[in-house]
Amino acid sequence: MIIVLKPGISRKEEALVLKEIKKLGYRPHVMRGVERTVVGAIGDERTHNTLEALTVMPGVESVMPVQKRYKLVSREAHKGNSTIDVRGNIIGGKKVQIMAGPCSVESEKQLLTTAHAVKKAGATILRGGAFKPRTSPYEFQGLGEKGLKLLAKARKETGLAIITELLSEQQAEMVAEYADILQIGARNAQNFQLLIAAAKTGKPVMLKRGLSMRIDEWLLAGEYVLANENANLMFCERGIRTFETYTRNTLDLSTIPIIKKESHCPIVIDPSQGAGRADLVVAMCKGAVAMGADALIIEVHPNPAEALSDAAQQLSLEGFAKLMEELKPFIAAAGRE
Ligand code: PEP
Ligand code: MN
Repeated sequence: MIIVLKPGISRKEEALVLKEIKKLGYRPHVMRGVERTVVGAIGDERTHNTLEALTVMPGVESVMPVQKRYKLVSREAHKGNSTIDVRGNIIGGKKVQIMAGPCSVESEKQLLTTAHAVKKAGATILRGGAFKPRTSPYEFQGLGEKGLKLLAKARKETGLAIITELLSEQQAEMVAEYADILQIGARNAQNFQLLIAAAKTGKPVMLKRGLSMRIDEWLLAGEYVLANENANLMFCERGIRTFETYTRNTLDLSTIPIIKKESHCPIVIDPSQGAGRADLVVAMCKGAVAMGADALIIEVHPNPAEALSDAAQQLSLEGFAKLMEELKPFIAAAGRE
């Protein structure tokens, strides 16, 4: 941390500031300029107390951190790219993994039809919500454990791995029994107890970006997973709230190079929640792949018009097969498979 002292600070006040810095576990290094004095507080800001409280001391003008607050998720902690093995499918490796399936698991027929179709088109992971975080309590809330059982059945029939969301700490063990990846939804992205419970199951965790979450907050939320002995974390950008209403959210593709720069964890793009419109999904997928996304998660439904949730943004089975064909040159151009 850098502590900038006010011009004209007395030696007595300065001594009090230095004493406080030492008390908080840092070594002060005083740099005297012509007009003012700056103190470098030497110590690990991520493990020591913050010195921000020093701003209330007379004589202190400002306190500036020099280190980032996240540690285990940061690129500095791990120079290479982390990879996550999900039933033999490597996320964060050369292959762009495609997760696809309905927004919600609605019935056996709906799920199995979708699972077989997305598998045939080249997806490796099946998505589908059994516990749904709906904005209104009167909307379809998901099939619960019955939905998880259907996902497990679909995995058995197709060999696809399963990703599904959990909404509460109490569900962590149960969802982890069925799922291969635990999804933390946008609405729970800073539910730290949930993140800890998910991490502790030992299953890979996909952390969506919150609706109004800054990138540093997202990285810090991810830190909860790694700090709880679970190295298998992936981030998922799914669009943020902006002033724009043409799209449901604003899909922030800048997070791909940013997460790659700041973190070693894989980045997944969700163009379905991001755009909220099926007609934009193909273009957003192409952009995401070209920019280096490690995986895509795409909503697909056998009859989108009848979907019980997110009808406007789900691709039909044919639409998904066409997308997979159209993506091929973009995947190759990005040097991926
Ligand atoms: C979903 O994947 O269907 C979903 C609810 O996602 P999000 O948490 O990003 O809104
Ligand atoms: Mn959805």
